Amino acid sequence: MKGPTEWEMRNIIMPLLLSGAKMLDRHCPKCGSPLFEKDGRVFCPVCEHRAKQEKSEMRGVEERLKEKLSELANSLPDDIDELEKHLRAMEKIIELLERYRKLEGGE
Ligand SMILES: [Zn+2]
Repeated sequence: MKGPTEWEMRNIIMPLLLSGAKMLDRHCPKCGSPLFEKDGRVFCPVCEHRAKQEKSEMRGVEERLKEKLSELANSLPDDIDELEKHLRAMEKIIELLERYRKLEGGE
């Protein structure tokens, strides 16, 4: 992982400093951003932001997969070969959805 970008400095670290969070003299081992302490909790604002962003991106993918799945389920072909392809695609989507769910730590 890269260190904090200029955008992250300006939009995550600066506002945090202004909000009165304490900047520690330690750095995040993952991204190199300074660590902060607030309400007795030490955290890396950049990694937290990135994790949140990744999660919402994944949610977007999940939504699209679900849409596609119901689209496929609503248009099953009569031709047996086509149907098989269709079902295989649906199976793949379901597999992916399950994998995403595991990545999110199971809800
Ligand atoms: Zn970090």
